[in-house]
Amino acid sequence: MNYSHRFSDGRTFGHPLGKIVCVGRNYAEHAKELNNPIPVSPILFIKPETAAAAFEGEVQIPVGRGSVHYELELAVLIGKTLTNADVTDVAQAIAGYGLALDLTLRDVQSELKEKGLPWERAKCFDGACPLSRFVAADNLAAPQSARIALTIDDEVRQDGLTSDMLNPILPLIAYMSSQFTLKPGDVVLTGTPKGVGPIEVGQKLTAQLNDLLTCSAVVVPQKNR
Ligand code: ZN
Repeated sequence: MNYSHRFSDGRTFGHPLGKIVCVGRNYAEHAKELNNPIPVSPILFIKPETAAAAFEGEVQIPVGRGSVHYELELAVLIGKTLTNADVTDVAQAIAGYGLALDLTLRDVQSELKEKGLPWERAKCFDGACPLSRFVAADNLAAPQSARIALTIDDEVRQDGLTSDMLNPILPLIAYMSSQFTLKPGDVVLTGTPKGVGPIEVGQKLTAQLNDLLTCSAVVVPQKNR
């Protein structure tokens, strides 16, 4: 998909995307809507760099693999290596903030969950992580009280406040770095607020981070596969 990081002012970033580290059930209301218990410690999973695609123009989804759900999330661009970091290290290592869709093959995931199997087939397909451009970290003064919203065909489906996260951004990333190293160019997805649901070919998605960032795309069937 030839994805590369970009800032909202058009600047490029000095590191390619490595991995995308995600957290499940980081908003209580979202855990509830999927009938999941609230986890004791963060549930982590990773999407490969081949899942990334620009959240711009069009979003490609697989066809014939069951329902594809959107999950709008605040994305954090990592600018420095983090191993066993504390929250101060993490704060200094954040290069930018953006928007991501953690696209999920929900039927596949339910089947895998039932069998106690890993989620890769549901979460890691090509294009499973549309990423917006990033706002430089300095330009988002209060990332923990930001608003993220997703509109589908003019209907607001998700409208969440990052203040509702169960694991706030800095301790969440510190925890991730206690489990494995984060490197410059990695992206952290911080969980989705309530309101997830299926997307269909032909729908128009518009996502917003405060009044700093807007991106939109039309859903199209996956190509070249
Ligand atoms: Zn998610």
